[in-house]
Amino acid sequence: MNLESVNKIPRNASIVFHLFAIVTLSVFSLYRIWIGDYKHAGFFSLAITPLLFSLLREWQYKANIIQKQITLIIVSIAICYSCFYLGYKGLIYLFPTIFVYFFLFSIKHALLLSCLYSLFGLGFALNIEPSSVIARYSIAIIDCIVFGTLFSHIINKQKDALFYLANTDELTGVYNRKRLKPSLNSAIENKIKHQTKASLLLLDLDHFKQINDTYGHITGDNVLRAVAETITRNKPDGAEVIRFGGEEFLIKLPGTDGEHALIFAEQLRQRISQITLTGVSQLITCSIGVKELEGDSLDEWINSCDKALYKAKNAGRNRVIQAG
Ligand code: GH3
Ligand code: MG
Ligand code: MG
Repeated sequence: MNLESVNKIPRNASIVFHLFAIVTLSVFSLYRIWIGDYKHAGFFSLAITPLLFSLLREWQYKANIIQKQITLIIVSIAICYSCFYLGYKGLIYLFPTIFVYFFLFSIKHALLLSCLYSLFGLGFALNIEPSSVIARYSIAIIDCIVFGTLFSHIINKQKDALFYLANTDELTGVYNRKRLKPSLNSAIENKIKHQTKASLLLLDLDHFKQINDTYGHITGDNVLRAVAETITRNKPDGAEVIRFGGEEFLIKLPGTDGEHALIFAEQLRQRISQITLTGVSQLITCSIGVKELEGDSLDEWINSCDKALYKAKNAGRNRVIQAG
């Protein structure tokens, strides 16, 4: 699971949302026909149209967030209109719709839009309602907006925590392999769409088994943490560090060509060789394979790095080699 899919509203939930809204408006429309109020019946029927369109898009797997946001705004305008002509009977529908703003917009935008929406709805309802009724509704609506903001904030925090737990390597604190495909695929997509360059480093610690054998696994773990910390501290902004295997790290450098990636890799190799840990006298060194993104295959990109790394190992370790 990646961040994009965590942020999406599940399709089933969205269909239920639409169906409830359509049924509610249909009931009102039929009721207005029954009492002979054809003007409002026509108006409610009109408000159903964007919802039906939006539901159809969702059904066909073609829905997007902007179209849903526009539908919500159209429905809100319809509710404001009913506030003007029906007073509190329209105002009560501000409550469920305010919550939908917090599903479809960022907290800041939902807060701003729901405040504006409420001001319009309440202002229009003054047309036929006494100010005492408007005051009562205002208080309840403020509560609704505050609760919506709090829920949204809590859900966002939980989403961040879930994403962190699912994508982070427990030992080193860098990304784990779950992040590999989304991270590299986004670089490939940017290359195809915008010709943005990207480079990849595959870093492997030299003779790490020896460190474990000599000083024990706990010390080995400390070395891995120190290496991850050194990479994270020295990496350029936007670069992503992924623990690829036991003592192997992938570093994605977006917007970086092979030449600059090679310079960074060389600096990193030197920084890692300067790591000192109490009780560890063996030099901590690494070998690095570097490759600028050329094609559109994730596997080929990693394989090229792997081959360069293999060459670096064979050439005596503690060095950087760029794939041809
Ligand atoms: P080379 O220079 O050829 O890369 O030799 P190497 O010893 O680094 O490579 P090798 O693949 O033989 O050994 C890697 C070792 O990394 C073996 C494994 O026990 C150790 N290792 C893998 N994951 C962890 C870990 O999470 N903690 C510790 N302490 N060791 C680990
Ligand atoms: Mg290895
Ligand atoms: Mg190794």
